[in-house]
Amino acid sequence: MLEIGHFIGGKHVAGASGRSQDVMQPMDGSVRGKVALASKDELRAAVENAKAAQAGWAATNPQRRVRVLMKFLELVQNEYDELAEMLAREHGKTIADAKGDIQRGLEVVEVCIGAPHMMKGEFTDGAGPGIDVYSMRQPLGVVAGITPFNFPAMIPLWKIAPAIACGNAFILKPSERDPSVPMRIAELFIEAGLPAGVLNVVNGDKEVVDAILDDPDIKAVGFVGSTPIAQYIYSRATANGKRAQCFGGAKNHMIIMPDADMDQTVDALIGAGYGSAGERCMAISVAVPVGQETADRLIERLIPRVESLKVGPSTDNSADFGPLVTKEALARVKNYVDVGVQEGAKLVVDGRNFTMQGYENGYYMGGCLFDNVTEDMRIYKEEIFGPVLSVVRAPTYENAIKLANDHEMGNGVAIFTRDGDAARDFASRVQVGMVGVNVPIPVPIAYYTFGGWKASSFGDLNQHGPDAFRFYTKTKTVTSRWPSGIKDGAEFVIPTMN
Ligand code: NAD
Repeated sequence: MLEIGHFIGGKHVAGASGRSQDVMQPMDGSVRGKVALASKDELRAAVENAKAAQAGWAATNPQRRVRVLMKFLELVQNEYDELAEMLAREHGKTIADAKGDIQRGLEVVEVCIGAPHMMKGEFTDGAGPGIDVYSMRQPLGVVAGITPFNFPAMIPLWKIAPAIACGNAFILKPSERDPSVPMRIAELFIEAGLPAGVLNVVNGDKEVVDAILDDPDIKAVGFVGSTPIAQYIYSRATANGKRAQCFGGAKNHMIIMPDADMDQTVDALIGAGYGSAGERCMAISVAVPVGQETADRLIERLIPRVESLKVGPSTDNSADFGPLVTKEALARVKNYVDVGVQEGAKLVVDGRNFTMQGYENGYYMGGCLFDNVTEDMRIYKEEIFGPVLSVVRAPTYENAIKLANDHEMGNGVAIFTRDGDAARDFASRVQVGMVGVNVPIPVPIAYYTFGGWKASSFGDLNQHGPDAFRFYTKTKTVTSRWPSGIKDGAEFVIPTMN
């Protein structure tokens, strides 16, 4: 049985609050261990460690700082398989998919090796007589990240890497459902040469999150999770004067134009809709075929593909997807399918009664497919976060783009077409942060930024790419005059360039 405490000041620390929670193995419903749930005092200990370590880390020259990231990349390579299996066992996704989770995190670490360049300031020589102006980017101090269960390697790395590369100390509060990989990541950073205290992991639930939001020494909070919590965290963190970027839920549409290659479209849709059991913020959960004929062709091809999806335990290399993360998540998703049926949507593939032989206590369900879903239904409006795809039939392209634009969420969207003009028009007019053209899951590559629009994101800077270096630094602008002018005496009129 695992006993997971916290990682503070470069070492494991047992939980002292007396509160803990079971960590499950979704593929068979067994208990893997217990994770401690931190109190406000335990958070304070982490903050004190972080504060003590931060000044020295910030004073370490940036090239030396990023050498730690380089070494970390090497250490992860040495135990990629073990990490992926640990991740799959706690999350439920397949091992192959868990490797992708780690890899997408490492790609951001790679980009952060360019931090010395990204942190360079500006310089104007001779902005006025004898005057030079320059700006510099300095770390914020101690910053924190609160992350979701669904990418336990990728999202912590998206936050840790830019924060520490910029010279901050970081406190991670990972999801209490799958904390082992974030804990191992912290150990590996220390092994890679990160000074103790620069990266701390505090496990817990709302109690420690609230302590983070109220702690005056934490200068910024990065959050990823569901929309109601993202909004709450943004409000409380900013009310306390912190910088905050909070990314929320999604309802990603895929528009299928009549000229789309239907084989390619269905392949893309199956992977994007059902991969990781639909537990991805960039999963496609709504397919919008344009025109009745397109819809009929799509449904006809989708049905056998959804029926033949291979559900299996996370350790089965041939499985398309594994179990859901918890028993509660499974019940919630199945309930949404019941709601869809009651609302009048046509359930053309029903995966609710799937059981996995030999793993009867695991949290499995088969893929579900709804046709004739309409805008007023809860299954259209709300994020289901499971292996359930809704087909909304749109009579025209204008109706289809309006659906995506009117939806409360605006994380990702895709259009499948062979027509460049339609694709260009769509990319320009759609009110969604990340757009795919014949790409079903348009998670931007690490040197671009990641972030949704509307209720999918609160705050103004995105994750990774150039925005990450802006979020984790503050700008100082220096105007200097050497040395003439002073001797001319005081000036009482505001200096201008006239
Ligand atoms: P969640 O909102 O339940 O939890 C996220 C984090 O917030 C966890 O660390 C959790 O401990 C903490 N938390 C939960 N309830 C809290 C509360 N009441 N007060 C304070 N903190 C609380 O999300 P989840 O179920 O772990 O993850 C799935 C959600 O995350 C989905 O909605 C998904 O779309 C979203 N997500 C979004 C992105 C993105 O980039 N937009 C990426 C991945 C996941």
